[in-house]
Amino acid sequence: MFFHELEAIAREHPDLIRIAEQLDQRLSGICSPAPLRPNDLSCVIGADENQVVSVFELLAQKGVVRAEDMVECERCQNLMSADALRKAIQDEDEFECSGCDRVFPPRSRPILVYRMTTQALSRTRANAKPLAQQLSELLGLPDREEPLSDRARFVLVAMIELGAVDSDARHSTEAIAIKALGRSADANALKSVMADLNTRKLIDSKTGRGGGCWLTDSGRQRAEKLRIADRNSATV
Ligand SMILES: [Zn+2]
Repeated sequence: MFFHELEAIAREHPDLIRIAEQLDQRLSGICSPAPLRPNDLSCVIGADENQVVSVFELLAQKGVVRAEDMVECERCQNLMSADALRKAIQDEDEFECSGCDRVFPPRSRPILVYRMTTQALSRTRANAKPLAQQLSELLGLPDREEPLSDRARFVLVAMIELGAVDSDARHSTEAIAIKALGRSADANALKSVMADLNTRKLIDSKTGRGGGCWLTDSGRQRAEKLRIADRNSATV
């Protein structure tokens, strides 16, 4: 597990092993002190809320998270400090939600939320995946792209620059070869590259008279990334 604290909890409380493992997966990916609600987390990991709370209490003792007494706005779910609400009630002030200006009823029920401590966040941040990988995981794209040869990369970039992005905008291999490799390029030399890109479903093609190649959706995405990478490396 990422958090040795959770590993220790799992060792000391065998009934909490599964929850500790699941929470380890979740918490190790958190890099902000946003509030964590045991109720939400228990739904997400399909566990008993009381058990999730027990693990959080143990984590709080170990300094991974800290508990905060909050009240939740019924209208916008904004969290405000329960202490501040109590103080406002004592002073007979109105206590407004900072999100939507709704006045909190004095009898608002406090809820306990947890935040990762600065110390825990410094560990998850050090372990954070590169932004590109976080994004691709978030968007459900494959997180590991197979490397492409130089020629294959030139071809993809050439195709997007030619606008060969659907079958109606297909370009001949000759035109793509010239764009990718220069005037003296031999289209035959690209045959294996094109076949490989086709197998990887990055390009599609139509054979015969008036045939040609175009980028598939994933080919276009890959080509756009390559173009951005090329541009950035050119400015370094
Ligand atoms: Zn509100």
